[in-house]
Amino acid sequence: MTLQDLAKIMRENGVCGAGGAGFPSYAKLNDKADTIILNCAECEPLLRLHRQMLEKYSYEILTALDTVAEAVGADNIVIAVKRSYKDAIASVESNLASFKKARIGYLPEAYPSGDEVVTIYETTGRVIKPGKLPITEGVIVFNVETMYNTYNALSNIPVTEKYVTVTGAVKNPVTVKVPLGTDFNTLIELAGGATIEDYAIINGGPMTGGLAGKFELVTKTSNAVIVLPSDHYIVEKRKTRDSISLKRAMASCCQCRTCTDLCPRNLLGHPIDPANFMKSASSGNAKDIKTFLDTFSCCSCGVCELYACRQELSPRSLIASYKAGLRANGVTMPADMEYENVSADRPYRIVPMGRLISRIGLKPYNKPAPLDEKEVLPEILKIKLSQHIGAPAKALVSKGDKVTKGQILAASDADKLGLNIHCPMDGTVRDINDTFITVIRG
Ligand code: SF4
Ligand code: SF4
Repeated sequence: MTLQDLAKIMRENGVCGAGGAGFPSYAKLNDKADTIILNCAECEPLLRLHRQMLEKYSYEILTALDTVAEAVGADNIVIAVKRSYKDAIASVESNLASFKKARIGYLPEAYPSGDEVVTIYETTGRVIKPGKLPITEGVIVFNVETMYNTYNALSNIPVTEKYVTVTGAVKNPVTVKVPLGTDFNTLIELAGGATIEDYAIINGGPMTGGLAGKFELVTKTSNAVIVLPSDHYIVEKRKTRDSISLKRAMASCCQCRTCTDLCPRNLLGHPIDPANFMKSASSGNAKDIKTFLDTFSCCSCGVCELYACRQELSPRSLIASYKAGLRANGVTMPADMEYENVSADRPYRIVPMGRLISRIGLKPYNKPAPLDEKEVLPEILKIKLSQHIGAPAKALVSKGDKVTKGQILAASDADKLGLNIHCPMDGTVRDINDTFITVIRG
């Protein structure tokens, strides 16, 4: 299959990164790639979907990877996985003989092994320069569900469902497959309900996810819904206002530099230096422009804030806020950021997953969340028009229309970065607004 044919199939069937920001996958295809990496790090605590999908669908996922490799002309496929995912590894190994380009690349039991730059370094030894894309080093990275969706797209089955791990303070942690547009409350009910009354919901992993309401909607990038007590450390950190975080930094940042010493991007030679940033931001020293521009190389992993800083300060949140402020004022990432060699201390400064889980108070919730693929059909779905990076899709249906599963509900302009959005169930369009299309069952 040619690159152009595959790109068309991915675009028409709505395939984007099934996690993170939701970059349209067709736009990642590039004939300069020599290596395709499947990211099965599942690097955030408590998440369980990727390893289980790889175990169950390794043949399908390897087929999709092989098709991508053929289309872009890449000779190597690396399945990046942790040794502890034994069942997923066994499943991949049982199929490797049929996929000559593929090999397994082992990742450490550490956080954030799934950060793209870290995954690439661990499995190929290549370092992506700050601000650059993996393709500059000949690599394209896809996650497990993205490749599963690509496999389906090759049979003209569009993306209409999402696998989500529902865990934390719920009766039966579970990984479910639900239609896009399902609300989080339904997911919590599928996990047997919350075990506590006063809880908060994290949309995504505990390190990088944000607070969400019960009626937040599943999109193509929803990976996890985590229920935690309202006064849990992680929830409290998310609620803290930046103005308070800055005052705390002024009062108690002792410049121990632990945040910088453990920063995964800094250890790979990128210029981000959270300790320096805290000094400049909290003292109002705007003369040190480089420190602020270096924030563009922060990946928001949260190691500095949730693991490294014993004063419980918030470098990650403040960096994110400053970065957003710079962007809002038209400042973009410098074209060529300075960088250094990978730190010789890196092997000793990797954050062990077990210790991270204990330190952030997640040990009681670190449980299996078995895959349950029974069909879920809510009465009502609210399908977001913007589930990916790029132009939001424009509705092609009208209020009152009868719609069927797999039908295109909305499409992006062909000349813009974007994707089609498909209907997840048979039903009737009840409402359309700028944010979503509401479909009722039947
Ligand atoms: S770890 Fe905390 S106290 Fe130490 S330099 Fe970083 S922000 Fe300051
Ligand atoms: S969030 Fe903190 S530890 Fe992670 S890359 Fe940014 S500065 Fe480094």
